[in-house]
Amino acid sequence: MAIKVGVIGLGNMGGGMAATLARKGFNVSGFDLSEAALAAAEAKGVKPVRDRSALIKNVQVLVLSLPKAQHVEAVCLAAGGIIELGTEGLIVVDTTTSTPDASRHVAAELKAKGISFIDAPVSGGPKGAATGTMSMVIGADDADLARVLPVLEAMSGARTHVGGVGAGNVAKIANNMLAACHLISTAEAVSMAVHAGVDPAKLIDGLNAGSGRSGATQVMFPTWVLNKAYDSGFTMGLMRKDVGLASDLSDALDLDLPLSRKVAELWKASSETLSDDEDFCAIVQRTNAKLYGRGE
Ligand code: NAD
Repeated sequence: MAIKVGVIGLGNMGGGMAATLARKGFNVSGFDLSEAALAAAEAKGVKPVRDRSALIKNVQVLVLSLPKAQHVEAVCLAAGGIIELGTEGLIVVDTTTSTPDASRHVAAELKAKGISFIDAPVSGGPKGAATGTMSMVIGADDADLARVLPVLEAMSGARTHVGGVGAGNVAKIANNMLAACHLISTAEAVSMAVHAGVDPAKLIDGLNAGSGRSGATQVMFPTWVLNKAYDSGFTMGLMRKDVGLASDLSDALDLDLPLSRKVAELWKASSETLSDDEDFCAIVQRTNAKLYGRGE
């Protein structure tokens, strides 16, 4: 019998994950507050469930793809949530970019009810979710990870088990701090080269063959910036959240990280001109509006 998987949060990432699991033979049902998200998932083979309680009670694995830690805490621990309705032996895979503290807190509360929780935040964007090629950084007990591995293998192309519960979100926050930094530093480097008379696409090719390469030069600039498409499927609001998580974590650890602090200031200030709904790559427009703007 196919493993019964529920997905809560069927947005840009969760919708693709649910569709991937359904395509690979799992029995997948999904819940979202948005009717449009439910309809889009249904068109891709996911059983839409409008009663969240029924979904929680009837699955063996529950994948969460929610905006923030507070949504994860509410879905897991509030009245009528997973802690009340999940059956013993249920395993929750949280792919939300959340906080290590929230992951550890939720995991401890659920454990007392015989429910396992792992944090497995992801990279690779909506395309990676829809094709099962995302990468995951995982915080989990060894036994829980072994139990849920077939589901994770179907959803992702690469998995790194970085430690116990919470470690996945530490690694994801570090990853996104770097991505936030690389996007701005690459924008400045490209701007400098363009002013010096070099073609930006040729520059990116050169950088990608050299030691300055990163996700910004290999994926973001060629796919979403140089063509001015700005349609990655990852919003400015979510990236600003992630940069804020990095600041909160370094503050909580009493660390002095001057470059990270400056990058965080630049992302925070970007809300003056870029709304939460804009694409996260649009941050480059703050470094050179003429070069990176759409010119409307
Ligand atoms: P999204 O806004 O597209 O999707 C979130 C979905 O959750 C929405 O459909 C929303 O209706 C639903 N939702 C919110 N609260 C809910 C609740 N209480 N119950 C059920 N559904 C609820 O966001 P996304 O881009 O899919 O991102 C999801 C998570 O993955 C975020 O934590 C984000 O930081 C992370 N992430 C996103 C990307 C990306 O490229 N989009 C990449 C890696 C990680």
